[in-house]
Amino acid sequence: QEASAAEPERTFIAIKPDGVQRGLIAEIISRFERKGYKLVAVKLVVPSKEFAQKHYHDLKDRPFFDGLCDFLSSGPVLAMVWEGEGAIKYGRKLIGATDPQKSEPGTIRGDLAVVVGRNIIHGSDGPETAKDEIALWFEPSELVSYTSNAEKWLY
Ligand code: ADP
Ligand code: MG
Repeated sequence: QEASAAEPERTFIAIKPDGVQRGLIAEIISRFERKGYKLVAVKLVVPSKEFAQKHYHDLKDRPFFDGLCDFLSSGPVLAMVWEGEGAIKYGRKLIGATDPQKSEPGTIRGDLAVVVGRNIIHGSDGPETAKDEIALWFEPSELVSYTSNAEKWLY
């Protein structure tokens, strides 16, 4: 019943170039929307390789880092911020395990992807990364605060 006080929880979600090229934008947005999360920022961008390296800086020592950054910067990415209670953790649940071979059916990766290098979507893995990733991809002025009519029925 109670709308969460103070800071609403926000997470950074991105549809990677494979998801955009495969025509999965509407399918993926729909899953977050139907759950009850609220879209507060969205844009289509082709990130530079340097930008991709910043986004994935935590993985810079992994063998797949270079290929991953090449891939993320290879075409349009749909960058989004979604808001709502539990959006960070439950967003990851909607997305499913990193390796689509291990993602449960019913999750985005489980239903829509086959291999780890082409797993179609990114989601922040915790409150700190959510904050950092939102700040990396969006200017504060691009985040839109608004009340949706659905909220009184969701909370
Ligand atoms: P997640 O995207 O689920 O948070 P990670 O942060 O561990 O997963 O990795 C970031 C991305 O790097 C993954 O989504 C995937 O695209 C890629 N990746 C992870 N592990 C591998 C791997 N073993 N081989 C190739 N790409 C990988
Ligand atoms: Mg991650």
